[in-house]
Formats: sequence, structure tokens, C-alpha cells
Amino acid sequence: MSLDTLRPETFETITRRDRLTDVLDGMAAARAAGLDPVKVNTVLLRGVNDDEPVSLLRYCLDAGYELRFIEQMPLDAQHGWQRDEMITAREILTRLQEAFTLTPDPAERGGAPAERWLVDGGPSVVGVIASVTRPFCGDCDRTRLTGDGQLRSCLFARGETDLRGLLRGGASDAQIADVWRGAMWAKAAGHGIDDPGFLQPDRPMSAIGG
Ligand code: SF4
Repeated sequence: MSLDTLRPETFETITRRDRLTDVLDGMAAARAAGLDPVKVNTVLLRGVNDDEPVSLLRYCLDAGYELRFIEQMPLDAQHGWQRDEMITAREILTRLQEAFTLTPDPAERGGAPAERWLVDGGPSVVGVIASVTRPFCGDCDRTRLTGDGQLRSCLFARGETDLRGLLRGGASDAQIADVWRGAMWAKAAGHGIDDPGFLQPDRPMSAIGG
């Protein structure tokens, strides 16, 4: 789940909706229903909510949620992302360490996007997903199917593979699997955000199911 702030007015600024309480209630309902862990994603934006990492982590620790801070990526609809404005993983960790003792989680990370840290000795953890400054594309095993049946081999892929057309055309499971596998074999080596020729995908995160 996404939670970027605990302030109703900031929530409204970010989402254009006055519904912070609904989100908090939804998280509590997920916990009450037995989902474990409840993972909460936060993106810090400079001048908007970058003063809240400590309060957000305290809230999640108290409620038993696993908080992960994600570096802002150029997937915004308004194409307003700027490399030198984003809050980096280093900055996030520095702020958290002013209030908590963080030690690297010894558990195997595998292909997981979050680097995890034990908070005050554990067992609670906080994650930092440093998509931009410490990319983990080399270990990425993710594949994404959009709501309209398009396969993307990477969040930043500028091309999509149409599985909906295959499904509607009566393709067999094996044929679909072959096309899916082929698209993943052609996956780019990395997101290329730091390449001079980087181009932001046309569809923003909200349009591809994120
Ligand atoms: S390859 Fe793409 S989807 Fe995977 S971690 Fe890199 S940017 Fe994210």
C-alpha cells in the first residue's frame, strides 16, 4: 500500500483527495484480516513530505507494518521528475539514523527490490528501494502485466508485448508462455535513467498498474 504522509493536508496536496483516513483504515483492515507482512510504500518529495520519514516509520513500527522508502523515479504523469531534486537513499538513511539505529538485515535479499535494515536491533525492519542511485536491475526477475493485457519487461520499457490479442485470438497457454518468455529474454540490461539518451515511458506508473 502507498502512504506518503500522515498529514491530511499533505495527503490532499499529493493525491488531490481528502482521504487519508480511508488509507489508514484500509491498512488496519488488511492487518486485521491476517495479511502479513503489510508492506507500506513511501516516496519522499522535497518540500512536500521530506520532513516525515521518522514519523512515518514510527507509525508503521507501532502498527506492525513494514515500511519501505522508494526513491522517486521518472514515472510521473507530468514528467516533472528531476534527478538533482529527488531524495536519495543516502539522504533517507541519514534522516532515519538521527532517530533509529539501523543495521543491515542479514537475510538473503535475492531479487527483492528493497535493501532492508533492522530497526533498533530488530526484529522490525525498514526497507529502502534505491531504484535510481543503487539500481538492482541485474537481479531483477519482475514482469508486469497491465490492466489492458500488455506485458512489460521493465517499468521503463518503452515497448509492450500484446498478450490480450493472443488470448482473444485463441492462442494456447504454451504459445502465450513462449511470447512472454521471448519478451523477457529481450529485457534491457537496466533502466538507463542515467544515460544521456534516457526517455521516460509514455505511460506513467498509474497507467501500468502501479
Ligand atoms: S529492470 Fe526495470 S523493473 Fe527491473 S529493477 Fe530495473 S528498472 Fe525496475
